[in-house]
Amino acid sequence: MTTPHIFKLEPNPSETKLKKFYETLREGRLTTTYCGKCSLTHWPPRMVCPNCMNEDLNWIELSGKGRLYAFTEVMDGAPLGMEDELPYIIGVVELDEGIRLLARIVDTKYGELRIGQRVVFTIKPRGDFAVLSFRPE
Ligand SMILES: [Zn+2]
Repeated sequence: MTTPHIFKLEPNPSETKLKKFYETLREGRLTTTYCGKCSLTHWPPRMVCPNCMNEDLNWIELSGKGRLYAFTEVMDGAPLGMEDELPYIIGVVELDEGIRLLARIVDTKYGELRIGQRVVFTIKPRGDFAVLSFRPE
């Protein structure tokens, strides 16, 4: 993971225990791991629970729906290869499951957004990468 919201879509992610995350992400679905031992939902998905060290984690599908917790517009200093996308909006989304994650906010304009607004997950493939994105609901 190069930045917290950009994931490399490996053509064959079979060598990682997080294979399911990448497979479902490619399908446009958001999944993560859940620890049945201590009832903790992780983000990003984990191979080992950081709370109790349990390695027998369950996969759960997230709703992909939540509220905009914070946002800003990136005007300069984009990661290498993304300079041509400036300006773009990045935000913290709080999913209905309580997870907060960093994502691109798309299909809208900065001036049209407000804190607390409902947003829904969408995936934006970009070559071999997937940009975790949300758009207004
Ligand atoms: Zn645990």
